[in-house]
Amino acid sequence: MKRVYSSQSITMVHHMMNILENNSIVCVVRNEDLFMAAGELPAIECWPELWVSDSEYDQAKGIIDTAISSETPKGTSWKCPDCGEEHEPQFTDCWKCGAIRPD
Ligand SMILES: [Zn+2]
Repeated sequence: MKRVYSSQSITMVHHMMNILENNSIVCVVRNEDLFMAAGELPAIECWPELWVSDSEYDQAKGIIDTAISSETPKGTSWKCPDCGEEHEPQFTDCWKCGAIRPD
């Protein structure tokens, strides 16, 4: 197994996991429990990590690099009008309640 991605944001790790799974790449999240236990601003070694098999690493890394560069945050973070959840600018809908980002 190799670590292909790590982020302070568990939301981003799950987002990348979804993208990889959509490309039929099996991946696992590590440190999720540690991250939850560490509280608001965990040390970098507590960040959640995304791991893939060695044989799929190159493909997974390419997909993630593409995803990151195509989702470079533009604009500012936004707040869901329905549930009030705060979101980073790259998200187009609310992960919590599914509401679409307002214009
Ligand atoms: Zn919402």
